[in-house]
Amino acid sequence: MSGDGAGEVQGMADKKDRNGEFWELALERAHLGVWDWDLRSGDCFYSAMWSQMLGYGEGELVEASDLWLQLTHPDDRERAVASGERHIAGLTDSIETELRLKHKSGHWVWVLDRGGVVERDAEGRPVRLMGVQTDITKQKQAEAELAQVNVRFRLALAASGTGIWHHDLAARKSYWDERTREIFGLVAETDEVSQDLWHSYLHPDDRADAERAHLAPLQTQKVVAVQYRIIKRDGEIRHVESLIRFIADAQSSGQILGTVRDITEAKQREQELAHAARHDALTGLLNRAAFDRLLAEHIATARPLAVFYVDLDYFKALNDFAGHATGDLALKSVAEGILGCLPPSVHAARLGGDEFALLVPDCDAAQAERLAGAVLAAVRDADLGSTAASRKLAASIGIAFVSDENTAVADALACADDACYAAKAAGRNRFAVFSHETTSGSSGLNAARLAADTVDAMDDGRLKLFGQEIHRLGKPWQESRHVEVLARLAGRNGRLIPPGEFIPAAERFGVASRLDRWIIRTALSLHGPALKSGALTLGFNLSAQTLSDPQLWDFVDAVIDETGAPHSGIGFEITETAAVTNFAAAEQFVRKARERRCRVSLDDFGAGMSSFEYLRRFPVDAIKIDGSFIEHIAESGFDREIVSAISGIARSLGCSVVAEKIEEQDALDILRDMGVAFGQGFLLHRPEPLDAIVARAGVQAALPAGRRA
Ligand code: C2E
Ligand code: CA
Ligand code: CA
Repeated sequence: MSGDGAGEVQGMADKKDRNGEFWELALERAHLGVWDWDLRSGDCFYSAMWSQMLGYGEGELVEASDLWLQLTHPDDRERAVASGERHIAGLTDSIETELRLKHKSGHWVWVLDRGGVVERDAEGRPVRLMGVQTDITKQKQAEAELAQVNVRFRLALAASGTGIWHHDLAARKSYWDERTREIFGLVAETDEVSQDLWHSYLHPDDRADAERAHLAPLQTQKVVAVQYRIIKRDGEIRHVESLIRFIADAQSSGQILGTVRDITEAKQREQELAHAARHDALTGLLNRAAFDRLLAEHIATARPLAVFYVDLDYFKALNDFAGHATGDLALKSVAEGILGCLPPSVHAARLGGDEFALLVPDCDAAQAERLAGAVLAAVRDADLGSTAASRKLAASIGIAFVSDENTAVADALACADDACYAAKAAGRNRFAVFSHETTSGSSGLNAARLAADTVDAMDDGRLKLFGQEIHRLGKPWQESRHVEVLARLAGRNGRLIPPGEFIPAAERFGVASRLDRWIIRTALSLHGPALKSGALTLGFNLSAQTLSDPQLWDFVDAVIDETGAPHSGIGFEITETAAVTNFAAAEQFVRKARERRCRVSLDDFGAGMSSFEYLRRFPVDAIKIDGSFIEHIAESGFDREIVSAISGIARSLGCSVVAEKIEEQDALDILRDMGVAFGQGFLLHRPEPLDAIVARAGVQAALPAGRRA
């Protein structure tokens, strides 16, 4: 109420009017307590509603002029009095103040006090004031709660680094709070920014998405979240996330309200984690899982591609020699070298250990060959660090081409792996291309692996020398022992792999010749003295490949020179089949053997069922009748016929006969009766480590002749 309305309220001066039923009702409804203060008399009237507001019944309060002041909270008194004084002094149009009054029960009631001068004297000095007081406790509480919520909210915003902005659609104005401005790197004093400003920060690649997201809330009425990049004025790119919602407004077209938060660090962490999940920690190349996924995706496109399987040669030796730190360094260096020589379209992965893989999209044979050459060179040139500077690594690469979209990832890799083993078997530091002709199905894959493993076994001591004695039948063991040297491969799992498994694989992948040479050199080196003493003779099996090796005799001569083993203590077994298929080579081999007085046996005789005619062409020392004719000799008349015929012819040609695979006493008796001079088989002797046989032979040889068993 202002002084302007003073004339109208003048009529209410007497008590009767003041208590008029109409006013009372209206004021009661409005929960307004009325006060009426006569400055001349100092009297102050308080309405019943006012007393009631403070918990008092009628007449309970003494109507003192400063009653209200007595009830006012000490902290609010000064302000309340000042507000009245300023108004009386004419400084304000009306009294309007909030203060706390003491309730009868002791608590404080917040009231809004509004009033003013209603009567002046002739000089215009105020003589009477009236006002109303409203209980605003609830509102005050709500305000306090809101303020608290606000404090919490601001705290949370500050902690999360979230900025708040809004855009007034009608006014076409945007308002950015301080934090928002900070995020965008905007230096400005006020919240208001031009409505185009935000757009000018958007990263071109994210612009369309961000703008669409900021308009979306107009349709959905929901909170829309969007992540996008901004380019700050200094060129720095940051990732931000905004939550946006539309707030309808009765008067205007409404507002778009949003938050903005800088998520650059979180994004980076996310990207780092994603990178770590896809890459090998040591080399930074893709890891196996990521490579598999990528390969699957590429195969699905049905575009021709090549998979390279790259296996390092001599890496294990390097690791053992120079330690794991050097090994790690070498792997890193190899990875860098490989990456460095590849076009960007090629994906490189480390599959684990010293195995790598490449995925070459749109690859033809010529390109594959070029790339393989480059990778081989990169591996050779890899820096192995000072500890292993004198060493060199090499790689064996297997390449498989894939053009069928139905190829399974595992099969594609297995083919490349298989070709890799072929490359290893062929001598390492080279590549081989997978072809279905050289490998068929899973057994083919295993054969390649086995061949490579055999080569490794020669270096790491897993290839073992066994032997089986060949006995003279009928008479007790006399004079010298003839021992056939047999190879055994200790698998990585410890299992002994029989030669029937790994020798065909070695032959197929061209390593049989190396194997034979290794066996000859190792046996003669270890047992040269025993051979020299005449305690025993050794017979070596030769593969067809070895048979046709023109340098074979140079090798054998050199080993004999080195080891001092006598030629006469050495024999060779060549299979009938190998001899027949490499006729010229076999003929020459036998001639050279005879020159040196080395014995030669024709092994597995009868199995190839070739003509006896060949026997004339090979002046061999002995014929070993294939075990398949011996094992059932007691039951099979046919077998007896064959064995009898073979031994007859052999005798007529002047060569000895050895029956293989004698397992039963019956068979032994039959063979002895037929006049077969020599026998070999589990009944007579089971293969055992050559060392043991040689040791026994040495002891026997030292005994006086009469006491020999
Ligand atoms: P092989 O030359 O015919 O050798 C005799 C094979 O018959 C040996 O098998 C021997 O353990 C087995 N054997 C001997 N007596 C009996 C018997 O009474 N019953 C049965 N069931 N088997 C008997 P092993 O050692 O598995 O050798 C298999 C073949 O592998 C050999 O047949 C030989 O052709 C080849 N081989 C073994 N070592 C070498 C090697 O160093 N170089 C080459 N090139 N081939 C080898
Ligand atoms: Ca043999
Ligand atoms: Ca044989």
